[in-house]
Parts: sequence; structure tokens; C-alpha cells
Amino acid sequence: MSQSDSSETRQCVSCGINIAGTNAARFNCPDCGQLIFRCATCRKQSNLYECSSCGFMGP
Ligand SMILES: [Zn+2]
Ligand SMILES: [Zn+2]
Repeated sequence: MSQSDSSETRQCVSCGINIAGTNAARFNCPDCGQLIFRCATCRKQSNLYECSSCGFMGP
């Protein structure tokens, strides 16, 4: 059995759309360092994001 590897999956943390191939923003969670992706639309609207790892929420 092979282990599952979803490292290629990139979803906006705010709206959940697949952002692969888009000009989405990429940054690290200020709290735990988890890599976070946010789509251009949510970035434009300054939607809140929530870290999937530690639950940190920020602008
Ligand atoms: Zn989004
Ligand atoms: Zn975090």
C-alpha cells in the first residue's frame, strides 16, 4: 500500500476553490508556519483566512 500524498492539492483557504495554475497568493501561517494559499479574489476582498493546521485566523 502506498501512502497518500496530497501535496499537489492547492486550495484557497478562504473559499476552497482549486487554485492550481492561478496567480494565487502563497504565504506561511504566522503562528505555525503552515503553507497557506489564497486565491486572487479572496485576496482582493481581504477575506479572512483560517490556517488548516492550527486554526489561526487573520486578514
Ligand atoms: Zn478564495
Ligand atoms: Zn497555523
